[in-house]
Amino acid sequence: MQDWASEFYHSKDWLTTRKAYISQRVAVDGGLCERCQRRAGKIVHHKKYLTENNVNDSAVTLNHDNLELLCQKCHNIEHISQVKRSITLECKFDGYGYPLPPI
Ligand SMILES: [Zn+2]
Ligand SMILES: [Zn+2]
Repeated sequence: MQDWASEFYHSKDWLTTRKAYISQRVAVDGGLCERCQRRAGKIVHHKKYLTENNVNDSAVTLNHDNLELLCQKCHNIEHISQVKRSITLECKFDGYGYPLPPI
């Protein structure tokens, strides 16, 4: 994990927000994963991903509208598809349709 990220995830503001968000979800549906609604939510995910540029913007980092309670599985899927998207974007093909090695 990047330093700025690990600093954020250990900050008191985030731990308080995370706790408040989870108890709010528990009050709504017992704290189920917001995607599959089958497994217990474990991870509070930022819909708009945190970056070094927005990590100090509490409208992004601490805003309940930007949070989602996910189970481990849905969280993995979310981040894997994100990785796939960026690979697709970066992947270039030669004139024969073979993918070129990344630069
Ligand atoms: Zn799930
Ligand atoms: Zn996430």
